[in-house]
Amino acid sequence: MELEDQNEETEDKTVKIPKTAEKGRFIEIVVPVLTLMTIVNCVIILVLVMNIGRKVNGLEQQMIVLQDKAAADAADMAADSALPEMSTFADVVDIDGSYVQDTAEAADIVEAAAMEDTHKPSGREENSDGIRRVYLTFDDGPSANTDRILDILDQYGVKATFFVVGKEGYADQYRRIVEDGHTLAMHSYSHKYSEIYASLDAYKEDLAKLHDFLYELTGEDCNIVRFPGGSSNTISHVDMWDLIDYLNKENMVYFDWNVSSGDAAKGRISTAQITKNVLDNIDQYNNAVVLFHDAAGKDSTVDALPAIIEKILESDNTVLLPISEDTVSVQHLHE
Ligand SMILES: [Zn+2]
Repeated sequence: MELEDQNEETEDKTVKIPKTAEKGRFIEIVVPVLTLMTIVNCVIILVLVMNIGRKVNGLEQQMIVLQDKAAADAADMAADSALPEMSTFADVVDIDGSYVQDTAEAADIVEAAAMEDTHKPSGREENSDGIRRVYLTFDDGPSANTDRILDILDQYGVKATFFVVGKEGYADQYRRIVEDGHTLAMHSYSHKYSEIYASLDAYKEDLAKLHDFLYELTGEDCNIVRFPGGSSNTISHVDMWDLIDYLNKENMVYFDWNVSSGDAAKGRISTAQITKNVLDNIDQYNNAVVLFHDAAGKDSTVDALPAIIEKILESDNTVLLPISEDTVSVQHLHE
């Protein structure tokens, strides 16, 4: 009895709507919501899948582009590494006009030549007494051109300076330089950059060999020096100041140049260009030291000389002189 009453009471309190109707309304609400959610989910998933697809496709394309770029870079690098051997150094000649086989030495020659042609002097050479002094200097000889150069200088009654190397078979030319009244000066016996600039001792040995060689041939006790590549060269493995200190101790004096004829470059430079390089730049200096090369194959240098000498001789207050110990020092390195 009590249990029944309780049940009745419960029914009275909670069950006011019939159970079947409640179920129907629930389904009416839930089913469309679930359907809608499912559709939305499907759309979202579809969009995501499409996006991923597009991204994957993009990545693939990027990969292809990168792969192509890597292949192109590799081809470029292969071409670059092949270049120096093939075109830059293959036709480099030494002071005898022979092709240089050693790539490192050829690279040094190219670097030194570029520096010789482009070096801009600091202007410390600017002391004047109203007279412009011009010094024609010839490096790397003697050569097949030496007699032609000496003939032209003789023709104009002009004295110059020859920074020579050590070569067999040119005894007459070394002697003629001295007999004609030019300055016989020292450049290097071997002129091999990798050897002479390997150590101070190697440099000393090379210079002593050249000094003694010239003394035996001509009786001249040479003490004027030009470093191969100049004192400002960037190829020496020895501090150039160590070499300069050595020259000072030996009472030798070195000269660089402040006007380059531009004839150090490999390949032929025109006579007109050499003439222009010299005549356009001499006026900047009261003591102009002009760099030429007396080497095999430098024929345009010889051909340019008459016009250069004539122009200088025509200039007012200008003299052409050989370098001596008293010449104002023209040096690239200054203390
Ligand atoms: Zn030289």
